[in-house]
Amino acid sequence: MGFFSMTNPSRPFPRVLGDFTALTGVFLACALSISASLAAEDGHSSSANPPKIEAIAARLEQRNDSARLLFEISGPVRAENFAVSAPDRIIIELPEVAFRIDPAVGRPNALARGAANGEIIVKSYRFGQFAPGRSRVVIDLARPAKVVRAESVNRPEGVRLEIDLAPVDAAKFAEMAAEHARSAAPDQTERTAVAAPEPDRSSSSSSPLIVIDPGHGGVDDGAASKHGELEKKIVLEFALALKAKIEAQGRFRVLLTRADDVFIALDDRVRFARQRGAALFISIHADTLGEASVQGATIYTVATKASDAESARIAEKENFADQAAGLEQKAAIEEIGDILFDLTRRETRALGRDFASKLIAKWRDAGSLNKNPSRSAGFVVLKAHDVPSVLLELGYLSSAKDLANLTSPLWRDHAAQSTAEAVEAYFEARSRDAHVETHPADPAPRSQ
Ligand SMILES: [Zn+2]
Repeated sequence: MGFFSMTNPSRPFPRVLGDFTALTGVFLACALSISASLAAEDGHSSSANPPKIEAIAARLEQRNDSARLLFEISGPVRAENFAVSAPDRIIIELPEVAFRIDPAVGRPNALARGAANGEIIVKSYRFGQFAPGRSRVVIDLARPAKVVRAESVNRPEGVRLEIDLAPVDAAKFAEMAAEHARSAAPDQTERTAVAAPEPDRSSSSSSPLIVIDPGHGGVDDGAASKHGELEKKIVLEFALALKAKIEAQGRFRVLLTRADDVFIALDDRVRFARQRGAALFISIHADTLGEASVQGATIYTVATKASDAESARIAEKENFADQAAGLEQKAAIEEIGDILFDLTRRETRALGRDFASKLIAKWRDAGSLNKNPSRSAGFVVLKAHDVPSVLLELGYLSSAKDLANLTSPLWRDHAAQSTAEAVEAYFEARSRDAHVETHPADPAPRSQ
């Protein structure tokens, strides 16, 4: 039997995927209904039309000298590819594809079971939406490799996307990655140039704008529990619940950076808030740890130096989101030593810490805080110098108690309510301060 031959042709999909098909269908139905209800929002959302192409199964076969990644798809697609380094990855660019496949198939632990001894090529792979109308497969390499073939093949059983990889030496891979970086550079400059209108702060005079930022999305799943619950889905559900709670207060406008399962780069999340003149930015995440006893929510503010080693680790993990989706690693941007910039940033960070303390007080009442709930680190997504920003880690997917909470609609409702109350308390304190500033002291009694 040939090494690359498919399994029993009477079974349309590999066995490992069969159990997940129904479940993924449910997730997809949820995602579609959310997407439909929010398509009119001023946020990042994908096209209202469902994608035409579906992928229903994936399988990896590898030996020391070759690897083949197969996707069963509903119709032919055009596949482009390029290499990205640090860490070494191959990116397959596709038109929009709905992946009805459990993402766990591409995780390292799933692959290790089938891996031969010796030097494998593929460490792990993931797939999902990258931008409206575009999907990606990101292949994490265990050793430098290139795509020798990536094409849709019509077979009697259906269409299959076949991606063949072969090893190359490190110098060749570095050259491929550098070539891509050169060709991609003008694209990024252009994007920045297009997206630079002045923030519209005049409209915020009506009511303050709160931007809620559900982490990850699309090709980037974020953290995952042992049983496959995904951070990107949990944080979106929480963000939607929080939006509803804040809107119910009738005092604020609320926008989400993403309202469905789509990837958004970290800088774009920050830009989204700044361009719309957000008064507050709340990024929502959840984490996972090897240690199952660690639990509870943590509230992070931005700081150049992390408050502790654990916070530094979490910031590094969350900052990796762009690379998880196949973007280039960016060199740290030198921050300009402009005195006005510094002043604004100092003031903004103080406001962020003020909101964080309100949030901790409300969540303490709700009773689901981490032992050390107030921390800080260099999160990229919190770096707007003029928008007070916090990052709320809802809890740990590795803790049974947290996972039960995070997937409970009742808990979500309660926690979203506490968070909305913290928003209200923060703005109440702000308007009191503003009042004191305008009227520094009670007017002195006028002498007759
Ligand atoms: Zn996250």
